[in-house]
Order: sequence, then structure tokens, then C-alpha cells
Amino acid sequence: MYIIDTCSCIGCGGCPPICPDCAIYDMYEYCVINGSRCVNCENCWAICPTDSISRLPDADPDPDYFDSYWDGDMLMDLVLWWWGVPYADTPDFSDWSKGADCSWTVWKIYQQAGLNYPYTSTGWAWDHGMPYPFVEIAPGDFQDGDILLFRNHMAIYVEHLPSGVSNPEAHWFNARRSSWSHEFNTLEELTNAVGSDYKVFRWENH
Ligand code: SF4
Ligand code: SF4
Repeated sequence: MYIIDTCSCIGCGGCPPICPDCAIYDMYEYCVINGSRCVNCENCWAICPTDSISRLPDADPDPDYFDSYWDGDMLMDLVLWWWGVPYADTPDFSDWSKGADCSWTVWKIYQQAGLNYPYTSTGWAWDHGMPYPFVEIAPGDFQDGDILLFRNHMAIYVEHLPSGVSNPEAHWFNARRSSWSHEFNTLEELTNAVGSDYKVFRWENH
């Protein structure tokens, strides 16, 4: 499937009309692709003036494909990269170390891991779900990279913690405006603070 980098897309409107399967939605300031409809024709990729469109890796026969992304120290490295980055309502796209909010942080961590999806705000994801290829799963059996979504917040599950973190029992990495920022929290702490109504999404490669 193909995806659009919504940060570099200038919303020229060129790609939606040439998609044979109406997979591209014009959001006026940028476009997004519904991956479940994309037939990989490359039409959009070929005409984009800003090179904002790229192809996700093809499905890998290895069932541990997803895990291979987070294996080793990758997620830990990303967490360390983000450790101490302040909360910011609007990210500085030229310097992410200046901060981001929860949804931009989650999106950028996935991007840094090489997993691209159209940026999705928390409210939009709550109403419509995380975009393809995420799938909603039943809470409980968490694995690295799972996204915990609240109506007004999202966080990433981290199984393996960097050494020296303040709370060795915690596994949720998130940017949050109020009492803490970019710290680990137990699920109980997180739900106590944000709300008991939540959904869990997992990246599924197709
Ligand atoms: S690759 Fe083809 S099918 Fe997929 S979104 Fe682009 S134009 Fe549409
Ligand atoms: S062609 Fe490229 S810049 Fe134009 S709307 Fe599509 S993705 Fe955005």
C-alpha cells in the first residue's frame, strides 16, 4: 500500500482524481490514503510534486515481521530519544526535540521506526479507528508498539524499559500536558488519570 506524508503534502489535489479505486481522500490541506482500497497502481506516487507519497514494505511471510521492527533496542532507543522532550501542542517539524503532543509523538515514533501511517489525531482515531494497517485488539495481551487510545489521549506500550527509568513497573510511554510528560506509567495509573474507557490498536502488516 501507499501512504502520504501529511507534513510535506501541500494539498495540491492532484492525486485523488487519478486513483482508480477512489482510495485517496482530499482533506483540503493534505490528502490521506485508505490503505484497504489501495491497489498499488503507483499513479499517485508518479505525479506527486512534493514526493510525499511512498510505498510501505510489502507483507513479509515471517509472522514475526512486526516484532522485527521493534526487536533489539529500537523501541528503547526511540524512547530514550524522546525522554525529556517537552510537551507541545504543535510540533516543530524541523526540530522534534522541541516537543509534540500525544498523537504527534506516537506518529513520529512510528515514523522513526520506519512504520508510516497518515498522521491521525486522537479525536479522529477515537471516532474512526487508527488508520490501516492498525487493527483494534482486545485489551490485555499487550506487545511492544501497541497504542492505547482514549477519547483525548494516546500512548505506546513498551515492554522493555531502558535502564535507569524512574518507574521500573511501568510500560506506557506518552506525552501529556498536565502532571507529567514523557514518562512511563502503569496501565492503572494511566487509566486512573485519563479514563477507564479506552481502545487498543496494533500494527498489523498485510
Ligand atoms: S497507488 Fe494507486 S490505488 Fe493506491 S492510492 Fe495511489 S493511485 Fe490509488
Ligand atoms: S499529489 Fe502529492 S502534494 Fe498533491 S495532494 Fe497528492 S500527496 Fe499531496
